[in-house]
Amino acid sequence: MAIKRIKYVSRFAQPLGADDISSLAQSSSWNNLELDVTGVLMTSGGLFFQILEGPAESVDIVFSRIVADPRHTDLLILSSEDSAADRLFPDWSMKTLDLDAASHVRLLPLKALIKAVFDQQRLLDNMTWAIERSLQYEMSET
Ligand code: FAD
Repeated sequence: MAIKRIKYVSRFAQPLGADDISSLAQSSSWNNLELDVTGVLMTSGGLFFQILEGPAESVDIVFSRIVADPRHTDLLILSSEDSAADRLFPDWSMKTLDLDAASHVRLLPLKALIKAVFDQQRLLDNMTWAIERSLQYEMSET
């Protein structure tokens, strides 16, 4: 069966403590187990980075709820694959990693990478918006 995989970044809408993240992780894990969705949710410096994978209908259901969740904002989809051959995280219904609290040396570069990805996507977003506005202006002038 083909696997759908979505990766995105977003920003906390308000400060979230360890207890908030832990209850979010727990309910996500239960919901995902029911829908056969797996993945990982990382937090760092007020940013989320999540990978969701599973049957397309299930991933779409979960993702549509996530998009509407007021606990985060500025959600940017990094990639959406419809036919991945395998799951990357078959054993994790939603593994949560708080990178700010992580001491494992292998995880430390991820903090900088997530921030860089978020900043880069915001920049691309702004540039795309500027291109659209320029084209609209051009159209209105012709
Ligand atoms: P409830 O948990 O009862 O939520 C009902 C409504 O209240 C939802 O609209 C929810 O967004 C909102 N809500 C719940 N708690 C709070 C709160 N503390 N503050 C403000 N609003 C709140 N869900 C998954 O099932 N799988 C995931 O992998 C997953 N990942 C997520 C990743 C992020 C970064 C975020 C922010 C949320 C994630 N969620 C995930 C939660 C998801 O957005 C929905 O809240 C959840 O799926 C709905 O669960 P529920 O039906 O049990 O309703």
